[in-house]
Parts: sequence; structure tokens; C-alpha cells
Amino acid sequence: MQVLRIIYIPFDHLHRQFGALKLADKKHDVIVLVESARMTSGRKWHKERLFFLISSARHFAQELRTEGFTVEYIKAATTIDGLTAVASKYNGLPIICAQPSSFTQMKQLQDFGVEFIENDFFLTPRSLFTQWADKQKNFLMESFYRAQRIRLSILVEGNEPAGGAWNFDKDNRLPPPKKYEGPNYLKHARDEIDLEVAKELDHTPTTTWATTRKGALAQLRNFIDNHFAEFGPLEDAMTTDNWALHHSLLSPYLNNNLLHPSEVIHAAVKAFNTGNIPIESAEGFIRQIIGWREYVNGMYWFLGSDYRNNNQLAANRKLLPLFRDPDATQMNCVKQTVSDINSRAWVHHIPRLMVLSNLAVITGTNPQEFLDWMREVFIDASEWVMVPNVIGMGVHADGGQMMTKPYAAGGAYISRMSNYCKGCVYNPKLRVGDTACPFTTLYWDFLDRQKESFVKNHRMSQQIFGLKRLSDLPELKLRAVEVLEGLEKGEI
Ligand code: SF4
Repeated sequence: MQVLRIIYIPFDHLHRQFGALKLADKKHDVIVLVESARMTSGRKWHKERLFFLISSARHFAQELRTEGFTVEYIKAATTIDGLTAVASKYNGLPIICAQPSSFTQMKQLQDFGVEFIENDFFLTPRSLFTQWADKQKNFLMESFYRAQRIRLSILVEGNEPAGGAWNFDKDNRLPPPKKYEGPNYLKHARDEIDLEVAKELDHTPTTTWATTRKGALAQLRNFIDNHFAEFGPLEDAMTTDNWALHHSLLSPYLNNNLLHPSEVIHAAVKAFNTGNIPIESAEGFIRQIIGWREYVNGMYWFLGSDYRNNNQLAANRKLLPLFRDPDATQMNCVKQTVSDINSRAWVHHIPRLMVLSNLAVITGTNPQEFLDWMREVFIDASEWVMVPNVIGMGVHADGGQMMTKPYAAGGAYISRMSNYCKGCVYNPKLRVGDTACPFTTLYWDFLDRQKESFVKNHRMSQQIFGLKRLSDLPELKLRAVEVLEGLEKGEI
């Protein structure tokens, strides 16, 4: 074999038919994956997350070897150290890679002289997103999503939406049914590679996450066959009876590319065309894939590398202990959410947004500390997804570049959409007193503290106006001080 090229595969480019591998040639290419110590031990990563990423990459390397490729799986201090070693072994041959998925990796690889081919791991090329964004006055996801439906010809009849509406959210806001069990989740058996990775990490993995293409495809099939039809109406509900309801659990595989979004969409549209999937479920799920996910990736690149440093609400509180330790709070919603994260590195979008991010925004938690924590603990927390989702959507630290108003809410929302409040020492209806719900107290305190920031925001005027009707505002402000001190001490 005469090696002519080195193909570098980052741990989130694990697809045989996309990225640099689609051009690969067994006779002349050597495939390189680098497991860097900086990646494994540089931060307090959730071990389930590390396990998933590393074991998926090792399985992928193994599958390429079985197919007949020469594969170098290198352990090194950093990615660049690994590439330096392989470049020296192969006498400085050119290194090819699909454009990586973060600004930091893009710069590191560019500086090292890696040649890029276009990143085709999304349905929207970066240049196409820029063309769309350049024409917008504001960057409404909904406008992008409708354009995607037409461009990709999904759930449309000509230029009109199938079913007569672009969005069926009004049907998709059911609270959790009582004692809801639903179908079982898939369990993924562990093999030798998994056990080896688990041992190295000193971790006992769950059976929740697949680490192979075969397992990821089984997860997709399981969602389509057993969960898709009921996904929509319960997609925002939270319950202690059932940890995922009908969520697909596909985001980790989409984000490390064991599955390509086109494969997921193809399966979803095919199932919808059988007539067995209600449109509110089909539309709600398809929007996540062709709308929200593509939009967030597009915005990450469009907004630039400094966007992650935004702190326009001047929020400087250190990360509260309850984010890492469920025993550091009596708030049942937070306790349950953080316990679930500690168990399997995942909760769905509503606890992420309306419990965790909501708490970060109303307590004035520093956006970068919160972002770092979110990156560390979720199985699917790629940089490109977490930066816009946290800085823009979650904590409104960007001055409204992405969202017109913050997702701040009191306990009433959580009470309506979950069964958490029934088992809580606090009362979501109360805003003052020892048993007042901290969300309710801090929501009003946040609006009062930030009222000058929102004075020109007409979408916030009703909420700010509501402050004027609070006869107990002075008492509430005193309770808010107590709550914030208690949260810092881990006593609330
Ligand atoms: Fe959470 Fe408040 Fe409900 Fe307790 S009462 S579970 S703190 S929303």
C-alpha cells in the first residue's frame, strides 16, 4: 500500500458516507482518530458522556479496520500532538478533514495545516445559512424553519404547509398524565470495547446509550415504531413517573454523527406517510431536526467566536452548588432534574430550559459558568449547540440577538407542566414567606432588578407592568435576598 493521504476523523464525524470518509480510498488513505488527554481529563466531564464519546469512536475505528482500512487510533496529550506524531510517521503527508464543528478546533487544525473539505453533517451548508441570515432583520427561528420546509420539500404541498398550519404547538402542551408508564426504553448491551473504556474511566455505564452505528439505528427504529406517534402532545411534559416520555433520545447520535440528520428525517417522513403518525407529532419532531437543530448550528457560525462571552444582563453569581449536587437543594424540580442528569447525562429540552436555565437567569448566574457546566454534564452537549442554546435562548445574555425575550418564569409554569410541585416543600403559588416557591419569588425579583434592561422591549411590557400590581414587592425583595443566600449555602 502506498499511503498518499491522512484522513483525520474527529470524534463527532463518525459517519462512513459523510465528511472526509465519503472520499476515502483503502489503498491510499490512512484514517486517524486521536483520543486526547485534554479531552478526557481537561474538565469535569460527566463520565457517561466521556464513555459514550470514546467508546463510539473506538467502535467506529474498529468497524473501519474490519472494512479494510488502515486506521491509526492514537492516544496523545492533545489532538495536535497526535496529528504531529502521525504526520511524522507518514513523512508529512497532507492531512484532510471535514470542517470541524467548533471555532477552537477549526483554528487549531487550520494552524496545523489541515486541509478542509465542506462539512456536510448538517442539512444546511454554512454558506447557505449565512445567505439566509444576511437577509433577516431579526433571526426568527420560525422564518428559517418555514424556508427549510419549502427548500427541503418536507411536510409541504407546494409552498403551503401540510395539514394547514406550520406549527401545531397548541396541541403539544399537555401536562403529564397521572402514573404514566409508556413503552420500555431500549437497553444497549455492553461489549468488550465498552467494558475496556468503562474500566479506563473508572465508570459503571448505564445501558441507555448505544456506542455503535447498529445501536444508534436500533434506537431510531425504536423511536419510530414505539414513541413517534405519541411524541408531540407530551413533548413539554415533565414527570417523576417516566424519565423520557416519548422523546427520541437521538441527539447524542446526531451530534457525534453515528446518525446523519437526513437518515432520521427520511425515517420520520416515511412513517408519517403511512398515515399512522398524527401531524402534531410529525411536525413537532421534524421541526427539531430540520428547524431548531440546523438553525442553532447556523447561528453558532454566523454569530462568531466572541458570542459565547456575552453577559449583557451583567450576571455575575457563581454557579450554585445545587447544579452539581441534588442534595444541595429542597426544590423538588431541581433535585429531580439534577439527579436525572447525574444518572444518565440527559434530561429533555423543557427541564433544560424551564428549570435549569430559568433558574440561572433569575438568580443572575454568570452565563459562562453556567454554559461550562451545561457543556460538561449533557451527553449531547456539543459546543455549537450549547453556545447559542445557553447564551441566546437559555439565559438571554446576548441582549436579544436570538430571542426577543428571556425564558424567565415563576413556579406556575413548572407546576402546570410537571408533577414536581406535589412532592415539594415549597408552594408554587406563593411569592413571599418561608414556603414560597423560589422560582416565583426570584422571577419577580429578576423582573424588578432588570426592568431598565427591558424598558424598550414591548414583548416584556406586560410582565414589567405586572410588577406595578405587586403590593408586597418590598417584602418579596427581602425574601429574594434570603432565597439567594440560602441557595448559595445549599439550604433552599
Ligand atoms: Fe420547583 Fe417551586 Fe414546584 Fe418546588 S414548588 S417543585 S421549587 S416549581
